[in-house]
Amino acid sequence: MQDALKKYFGFENFRPLQREIIEAVLAKNDVFALMPTGAGKSLCFQLPAVLLPGITLVISPLIALMKDQVDALNASGIPATFLNSSLDAHERQRRVEGLRNGKYKLLYVAPERFPVPGFIDFLSRLNVSLCVVDEAHCISEWGHDFRADYRNLHLLRDRFSSAPIMAVTATATDRVQTDILEQLHLRSDTKLFRASFDRKNLTYQVWPKRAAMAQLTGYLERRKGESGIVYCLSRETTERVAQSLKAHGHNALPYHAGMEKEQRTHTQELFDRDKVDIICATIAFGMGIDKPNIRFVFHYDIPKSIPSYYQETGRAGRDSLPSDCITFYNNGDRQKYLKFFDEKPPEERLRAIEELDRLVDLMETRECRRKALLRYFGEEYSKNNCGTCDNCLSTQNVESFDGTRLAQMFLSCIVRVGQNFGASHIIDILRGSERGKVLDFSHHKLPTHGVGKDYQRQEWQHYANEFRRQGLIIQDHSHFGVIKITPKGWNVLKNGTIVTLNRPWKEESIASEAFELAEVNRKLFEELRAFRRASAEQNNVPPFVIFNDYTLREIAARVPNDAQEFLAISGVNESKWRQFGPDFLRLVRNFKTSNPTIKRQESVSKPISRELKGGDSAFETLIYFRKGHSPQKIAELRSLAISTINGHIASLIQSRHITSLDRLVDPSRIPMIRAAFTQLGYGTTLTEVRQHLGDEYSFEEIKFVRAMDESG
Ligand code: ADP
Ligand code: MG
Ligand code: ZN
Repeated sequence: MQDALKKYFGFENFRPLQREIIEAVLAKNDVFALMPTGAGKSLCFQLPAVLLPGITLVISPLIALMKDQVDALNASGIPATFLNSSLDAHERQRRVEGLRNGKYKLLYVAPERFPVPGFIDFLSRLNVSLCVVDEAHCISEWGHDFRADYRNLHLLRDRFSSAPIMAVTATATDRVQTDILEQLHLRSDTKLFRASFDRKNLTYQVWPKRAAMAQLTGYLERRKGESGIVYCLSRETTERVAQSLKAHGHNALPYHAGMEKEQRTHTQELFDRDKVDIICATIAFGMGIDKPNIRFVFHYDIPKSIPSYYQETGRAGRDSLPSDCITFYNNGDRQKYLKFFDEKPPEERLRAIEELDRLVDLMETRECRRKALLRYFGEEYSKNNCGTCDNCLSTQNVESFDGTRLAQMFLSCIVRVGQNFGASHIIDILRGSERGKVLDFSHHKLPTHGVGKDYQRQEWQHYANEFRRQGLIIQDHSHFGVIKITPKGWNVLKNGTIVTLNRPWKEESIASEAFELAEVNRKLFEELRAFRRASAEQNNVPPFVIFNDYTLREIAARVPNDAQEFLAISGVNESKWRQFGPDFLRLVRNFKTSNPTIKRQESVSKPISRELKGGDSAFETLIYFRKGHSPQKIAELRSLAISTINGHIASLIQSRHITSLDRLVDPSRIPMIRAAFTQLGYGTTLTEVRQHLGDEYSFEEIKFVRAMDESG
């Protein structure tokens, strides 16, 4: 298995659960695998496909993706093909011949072929060793992408009784899971696998929406030429945002269901082929997105629920490189949804509001967002600080204060208006507004009029949500959203029960370290990428079929000298080397000639060791370090000795949490330090090494270089 992994896919290690799943399939078990997007589900059936005799049948819902997947397999030297309605009669005949002659290891088909007369008979004459149902949630009416044709797939079990069935999906509630097991007639001893839904390489951030376009373009300054999606609520917004981004010099296009089908397909293709960087889309831009190098997903407007949030942000970083998920949050967005929901039948409408409120809670929480998100899906995140969400990285302490008086103002205003108005009107009164509706009801004469004018509207909205979360008020959504006071709320109002509140947070932008490449290496990466785009065009495949961004980054970091070094890079196997390697290697060599200063960096493909000496305190140092503070500054901020911080940094380097010495040691001094260690041995004490080097070298520098070299 391990050999096949490198030979066919060019990878050194399995991702979590891949090995277990493959072993189960090879042992002829039915398998149900629930793994998040980008976890590497395809490999779980593609690898068995090459090891098993005969052919593996893959049912996949999207015709558009089949070609890419098959192209990618062929580029890796795995004979694969697909049959669908896009082929002309001649081409189909050619493939059918090939299938009869056992030429292929994998066959992709769309579910709509199953009822086609004779098709299943044709399949049963092939030597099918494994049946795979990709995106298996499409089988369930309870899921969000139900496809009636998936219902025919029970035929697989009936017609290929000896071949195991494997169902994979990234989205399945309990209900959908049961449906999949039943509908596919999976055996009762089916092996179930559920991976963690934690997407470690994604940052989660929520920014208060103020000057959204300026905030967005500010962020994009640092992301020139990278791929991303900006999700918007309405078609008009997608067009407006795309237009403004263009005006700012970005390569952006809109995408929504109002566009002609052809134009949509074309837009998606431009995106897949790295010819347009940013798609401003409604949620119509969805399931077919398999592009691995999406570096950011922006929500220009909030999504409608936590599952939508997870799914939409989940399109970022399939290639496991760091990527950002940023949501603009503004209480007004919630209002917009409420208007949409008005058209739903009452029960559905209430459920939608409930789901929306869960999302609002996630937006407003001061807790680790990853933890809150995973909890929604029933998964307990063990750490308290993930180090990659805005809350965990915030330097602002959660500032809580006694909000009893504030709550009383709000509650008494509700009483004054007879528990007959919504939050927005209450806030208008508290802020002393003299708007039409306030005057119409003579609410400017109330004693509570203007008592809360020291707080901004946004702040009041934040506190109103907090009162709802704390159960002081409820909103009656079946009656114009009017706010009523709960018994708990009355207790606050009458008996002064203490209410503790958190101040609304301020925006702090964090950027994932998308590419920890030194400047010249980064330049090489850009050249490699341009070259890949050109070769992809020549070969008429998406760029990632040649090499994905991860591999490209590795090439730029490792600067391979020869075929052997090139082949050692993750994502390069024999077949890809033969087809593309020499040209890429030539580019690297030429680059080196004109940029002699380029250095080899450490590889990113080595897994980060989770063991970190110094525990949480060292981890906290890492968080400050990632924000750009120097060790000296961190020591000040944390009131700790500089030697403690330096100790943390050394162990962070050793555990590969910090992978570059750029901000720690002057690069011109590293070779001397290394030379000293090589001469004296890495076991030599720092004092001895320093004696050897001379006083102008500090202990820290020596220590950091040693840690780096020992990190392997
Ligand atoms: P999923 O279908 O689960 O969303 P994919 O199968 O499309 O994910 O895989 C996502 C990415 O991960 C692909 O670029 C794939 O090449 C890569 N990948 C899969 N397994 C491994 C592995 N063991 N090591 C490195 N990369 C992997
Ligand atoms: Mg997949
Ligand atoms: Zn966090």
